[in-house]
Amino acid sequence: MSTQTASNSPITNRRRGTIQRWSRTLIPTLREAPAEAVNPSHRLMLRAGCIRQVGAGVYEFLPLGMRVLQKVSQIVREEMDAAGSAEMLMPAIVPLELYADTKRDVEYGDLLFRLTDRHGRGAALGPTHEETVTEMAKGSVSSYKQLPLNVYQIQTKFRDEFRPRAGLLRGREFLMKDAYSFHLSVEGEGGLNETYDRMYQAYVNVFTRCGLDFTVVEAEAGPIGGSASHEFMVNADTGEDTIMVCPATGYAANVEKCEIGERTWSFDKSAPAELTKKHTPGMPGIDLVAEHLGVKPEQMLKTIVFQKVGGEKRKYVLATVRGDHDVNEGKVRDTFGFPVEIADEKEAKEAGFAIGYVSPKMVERRDDTLLVIDPDATAGTWATGADEKDHHVTGFSWSRDLDAELPEQGKQSGRIRVGDIRNAVTGDPSPRNASAKLEAKRGIEVGHIFKLGTKYADAFKFIILDEKQKKQTVIMGCYGIGVSRTVASSVEMSHDDSGIVWPIPIAPYHVIITVMDPDKDEHAKVAADLSEKLADEGVDVIIDDRKERPGVKFKDADLIGIPVRITIGDKALADESVEFKLRTDDGKGRLVEIAHVVQETLSKLSNA
Ligand code: ATP
Ligand code: MG
Repeated sequence: MSTQTASNSPITNRRRGTIQRWSRTLIPTLREAPAEAVNPSHRLMLRAGCIRQVGAGVYEFLPLGMRVLQKVSQIVREEMDAAGSAEMLMPAIVPLELYADTKRDVEYGDLLFRLTDRHGRGAALGPTHEETVTEMAKGSVSSYKQLPLNVYQIQTKFRDEFRPRAGLLRGREFLMKDAYSFHLSVEGEGGLNETYDRMYQAYVNVFTRCGLDFTVVEAEAGPIGGSASHEFMVNADTGEDTIMVCPATGYAANVEKCEIGERTWSFDKSAPAELTKKHTPGMPGIDLVAEHLGVKPEQMLKTIVFQKVGGEKRKYVLATVRGDHDVNEGKVRDTFGFPVEIADEKEAKEAGFAIGYVSPKMVERRDDTLLVIDPDATAGTWATGADEKDHHVTGFSWSRDLDAELPEQGKQSGRIRVGDIRNAVTGDPSPRNASAKLEAKRGIEVGHIFKLGTKYADAFKFIILDEKQKKQTVIMGCYGIGVSRTVASSVEMSHDDSGIVWPIPIAPYHVIITVMDPDKDEHAKVAADLSEKLADEGVDVIIDDRKERPGVKFKDADLIGIPVRITIGDKALADESVEFKLRTDDGKGRLVEIAHVVQETLSKLSNA
């Protein structure tokens, strides 16, 4: 084996490739994955011996998985450094005192892993580090001359997720890159927007370099408003997030945030059927009720009760959408100029709302209640709750059955309004192009950038003097990448029936050299020579030198997803050749002369 060290020069970055032997590392491949592993990345990473489960949502990275994690981390590091962020490392243990002013320990609730030390002091295992970093910056930055500042870390995070699932996709312990920036202005040179845009571009670079197919979407806006938050979503049918895209303009948004284009509406559909009360006992879900009433869910109204946040006076907002639609909390939140949240079920029942059977008519019965109706829930005859447990009505008509003044298009005011309060669905008009229709896709959130504003600096009273000796509260941004989730997402995106198909830039090895008969000196020698030459060119090689049947080795090579397979066997050697196959090729592969293998490998790796 070579005696050369990894880097040929102490100052250049050019890396020599790694050479490892399967028999000397640990890749415990499995024929079957445990039944609970249903997501492709979970199943295949377990089977490929990349990860192993230690506890619920807690995994160890075995050597193969670790190599991928390191490659993604390295790409993240390079792009963050290039974008002007400085790497640091904060402790995972966050003293609870740090949450005293932000109350995020309360906000996080059970998601926070808590511990108590031998002296009885409380701490949390950091789910993210806004408090720690704000405290750090407050203690170290005293002059405007030190801003803007952008720091990041790549660190294990802890969240006691209610339902850890899908292996690395939602773990309770996971690797995150989190960055935080500090500014004295939003606009202009050195301002938040400049860094935000730079981070946006760095994220595009990271996920492009990782070989991922992704969409950048607008996410729920921060306190500054506008498009102050973006998520980076890997396109995968197995994703938990719904993203809406406008094919005509490229507008893309998380469904939590997606606007819907203008819709016309009116209440004046006449000839309604008779209003009839029906008994609908013990039917959970709108589908069962609709079936029982002999209507379709889209002929029903669904009314959700919201309550005012803060303030002394009890105030309620009813949000009514069509039965097949979902109310969007974020859209309802500010309809009437004060913030609301979904009402606590018990409290709302005590206040007189028949939760599960609420109808819009409650607005005429109570003067502490306002109503907002989605445009698609206006004209027509509807089935709706009867404001009485276990009862619904059919034949409800807004204009006939509501004794309250209904709004007209363009003239909104009063206690009843019509507005976009639901999640967008496929076919809705695009908010950017009146004639285009939105399409829904699934995605996995791998990155999130956010304009925080002064939320944390306010809490920590992080105030410094600007150039004109004027006191300024520091403005912040935060930027996260789920590094371990990115690894899993690449598998969700890229695999086949035989196993993982790693994108080349993050593959644990670029080449697997399968030695048919490791006991034969000539086989071993050709493998050693080729691997040295490939490593000299920066290629990472694993030599499968196990004494296993060729069929087992080929299956494993496919399972662990190495982009290029070079097979050394007697038949090819007789022609001074090896068998050369890409992971994405079908069949056996083709003969390539030994003298040309390095060139062929390099060209395939760089063209893919
Ligand atoms: P989610 O909505 O999926 O719970 P989040 O929006 O709460 O995630 P952020 O606080 O934005 O997460 O964290 C930054 C990144 O960390 C996310 O974009 C995601 O890639 C990653 N991440 C968050 N939670 C987990 C987890 N439980 N397991 C793995 N990665 C995670
Ligand atoms: Mg997020």
